[in-house]
Order: sequence, then structure tokens, then C-alpha cells
Amino acid sequence: MATLQLKSLSMHYSAKDKALSDVSLEVNAGEIVGLIGPSGAGKSTLIRCINRLNNPTGGQVLFKQQDLTNISGSRLRQARRKIAMIFQEYALIERLTVMENVLSGRLGYVSFMSSLLRKFPGKDVQQAYALLDRVGLLEHANKRVDALSGGQRQRVGIARALAQNPELLLIDEPTAALDPRTARQVMRLISEICAEQGLPAIINIHDVNLAKLFVQRIVGLQQGKVVFDGSPAQLNDDV
Ligand code: ADP
Ligand code: ADP
Repeated sequence: MATLQLKSLSMHYSAKDKALSDVSLEVNAGEIVGLIGPSGAGKSTLIRCINRLNNPTGGQVLFKQQDLTNISGSRLRQARRKIAMIFQEYALIERLTVMENVLSGRLGYVSFMSSLLRKFPGKDVQQAYALLDRVGLLEHANKRVDALSGGQRQRVGIARALAQNPELLLIDEPTAALDPRTARQVMRLISEICAEQGLPAIINIHDVNLAKLFVQRIVGLQQGKVVFDGSPAQLNDDV
């Protein structure tokens, strides 16, 4: 059974502005999907509809067979714990340390804020160190995020997302703010970690060449519709 199933998903910001029309898509365990398409095609809207940062106007989002389109409150929060996001501009807490940012993913906002005043549980700190080691930031654990480079910040974002023990990663333009070399390093790290953990991911990538390098399945959106779904090699044949 697919981890994620989108069934005829639609999102209309207004009667005229149909950001998504009838999008159907399945993502299986271990699959990394690169979302490509021109600006305004609906890539961000698609990602935001999955964890309900946007409310779809039609269709269904099934995550491990649970319909996320009609839940709210604690059930929605519970589902969101399993669906981690990585953002273009990192969305880190700049004045806190690398370690604290990773722990905020691990503990969730409320437990994190109360632990800040006391002590973080040892087993959570252990796990955070292991993640920082994996993303190559162990020696920077106690630095404030605002002292890091862009590439380092995005690696903190990756570690924070993984600290949630997610079952799905949603990644919105993770390399848009990075130089080409750093962008490739970040994409390589994301694709390696997803492969190691069998973790499915949807990555909105503006740069088609970067998608072809690191992603086995590409979904092309245009004017809110899926116009391509296949391998990088098939994409080359099509254009
Ligand atoms: P992409 O990520 O592919 O650039 P978006 O999902 O951001 O595309 O946008 C898809 C369409 O929805 C565009 O026509 C855009 O103008 C519109 N749109 C996006 N966000 C909003 C919003 N908050 N209100 C109204 N229209 C929006
Ligand atoms: P990465 O190791 O992620 O590829 P860079 O090559 O961009 O990082 O940066 C190398 C070093 O320069 C890092 O150790 C970082 O601390 C420092 N550095 C880069 N950009 C900044 C910045 N904007 N502010 C502070 N330090 C920076």
C-alpha cells in the first residue's frame, strides 16, 4: 500500500485561480519524487495541501490510508508529527543553537519550550547528536544558527526534520537560497538519507538538472495538472 495517495486533489484560491486541478499521485515507501514545473504551476500548493497548511477544495489526501482532508485538532497534529518539512529559507530559530533547533523537531514545540527552562531528556539529546553527526555538523552543535553558512543551516533543517522520526518528508525548494555546489551537496545528503532510511519524500525542485541528478522519479506540473510522471531518462526523451 502506498504511503501517500492523492486522489483528484484540487485547490482553488478563487474561482479564477485554480492552483491544482484533479491531481492524482501515489508515493510508495522509499520513493523520492522530484516535483518540477514553471513558477506558478502549483508545486508549493501541492506540498502545502498534503499537511494541510493549505486546505484542498476537493479530493483526498490519504497518508497511510488515513484521510487528512477532513481531520483537525489533535488528530491533525498527530499526523503532522509524521510528516516533516524542510523549507527553502530553513525556518530555524536563529538565536538558538544547532542542537536546540534539532531538539525542537524531536520534542515538538510545547515540550521543547518547557524543556528549554529545565533540562532536555538525555535520550533525545543522544538522538540529536547522532543526527548532527549524520549531517556533518557535530562540531557545530553548540553554535548559534545565525553563525552558520546557508549550507550548514539547511543541514540543521534536515536534522530537525529527521528528529521527528517522520514517515514522509515534504521539501520545498531546499536549495533555492544556496550556491550551485552547496545545492548539490544538500541534494546528495537528502537523497542518501532517504535511501538509507527508506523514507519517502516529495521535493519541489526548481532546477530540473538538479532533479535529474538526485531523484529517480520526476513529476511535472503545469497549470495545476500533472503533465509528466516518469524517470529522468524518460524526461530527456520527452523534451
Ligand atoms: P509554484 O510553487 O509551482 O510556483 P504555487 O503553488 O506557488 O506554484 O502557485 C500556484 C498558483 O496559485 C499560482 O497561480 C499562484 O499565483 C496561486 N497562488 C499561490 N498562493 C496563493 C495565495 N495565497 N492566494 C492566491 N493565489 C495563490
Ligand atoms: P558548507 O560547509 O555548508 O559548504 P560554506 O562553504 O558556505 O559552508 O562555508 C564555509 C565556512 O564559512 C563555514 O564554516 C561557515 O561558518 C562560514 N560562513 C559561510 N557563510 C557564512 C555566513 N553568512 N555567516 C557566517 N559564517 C559563514
